[in-house]
Amino acid sequence: MATMRTPIESGVPDNKQYLHPLMLKNYGNWKYHDRPRPGVLHHVSHTGDEIWTVRAGTQRQMDLYTIRKLCDIADTYADGHVRFTIRSNIEYMVSDAGRVAPLIEALTSNGFPVGGTGNSVSSIAHTQGWLHCDIPGTDASGAVKALMDDLHAEFIKEEMPNRVHLSTSCCEINCGGQADIAIVIQHTKPPKINHDLVANMCERPTVVARCPVAAIRPAMVNGKPSLEIDESKCMCCGACYPPCPPMQINDPEHSKLAIWVGGKNSNARGKPTFMKMVASGLPNNPPRWPEVSAMVKKILYTYKEDARSWERVSDWIERIGWPQFFEKCDLPFTKYLIDDWRGSRSSLNASTHIRF
Ligand code: SF4
Ligand code: SF4
Repeated sequence: MATMRTPIESGVPDNKQYLHPLMLKNYGNWKYHDRPRPGVLHHVSHTGDEIWTVRAGTQRQMDLYTIRKLCDIADTYADGHVRFTIRSNIEYMVSDAGRVAPLIEALTSNGFPVGGTGNSVSSIAHTQGWLHCDIPGTDASGAVKALMDDLHAEFIKEEMPNRVHLSTSCCEINCGGQADIAIVIQHTKPPKINHDLVANMCERPTVVARCPVAAIRPAMVNGKPSLEIDESKCMCCGACYPPCPPMQINDPEHSKLAIWVGGKNSNARGKPTFMKMVASGLPNNPPRWPEVSAMVKKILYTYKEDARSWERVSDWIERIGWPQFFEKCDLPFTKYLIDDWRGSRSSLNASTHIRF
């Protein structure tokens, strides 16, 4: 029997108090698991206990009524226990195989697709966006919704060569993380400074320290303390905007979207990999971002067609090589793509020290 962790004043609460009783009883004692169908995991313990987990996609940022609906489904059709995955899927656990089909029916009839397991396109890991963060250059949730509407069929089936993880990041700081295919905002012009507001709103040393390439200097402008940017150094990352909103970098025309591919967070079957930029300058075009969706689908379906079984996107590219990747996906290649240019070592900070 697993014991509860001693309470501490920081960090997340011990999750064992929320586990399904069968999961708590068999914690660390599972014999094997399989997937009877897409969206359903079946775990068998050394004690002979069995548990079925049904995974459904959610919209992640949910209103109260949706949360209540999901909880009602858990109380009526499952054993009253749920958990969320890091990709915003919700999982219901049941201890009886006969309850799986009615649970799936209840979820799908309420608009929650069941899938996201195995070699599917799982829900997109998306960043906080406008709801929680102060610097987004696009609506991460909107781009995710538009794309997942198009990829619904790939969520409920397991027909990809391997699992496919997508992510969106609504600024270049990229808290969406590494993904097989990622959508990342791309500012293309340095921030415009409103010198009248800097002295009142910004702590200048904080802003100067924030720039990863030391492009910001204190300056007197029109007799007032302000800041200036060395535009030849600025890489348009947007990091100075949060501590100093008068350094506005978001721009309806010049803030674009880029597509990166080949990232992987886990150590499963191969080392983690960093993703690389393969398309840039796509318009930030709400409410459906059609150009972004078309580009992601072009890469995704070329991968589906061309990759061997169990190759992740990064494995596929490594096997065929970058020239073949651009050719097969019908993407133009420019010197700004992939991030292997020789000057990157001197322009990116390789230590925690600020350099001027
Ligand atoms: S990607 Fe950037 S803007 Fe979006 S939530 Fe993360 S830090 Fe904020
Ligand atoms: S956008 Fe980034 S690189 Fe440019 S000045 Fe601001 S912090 Fe520095």
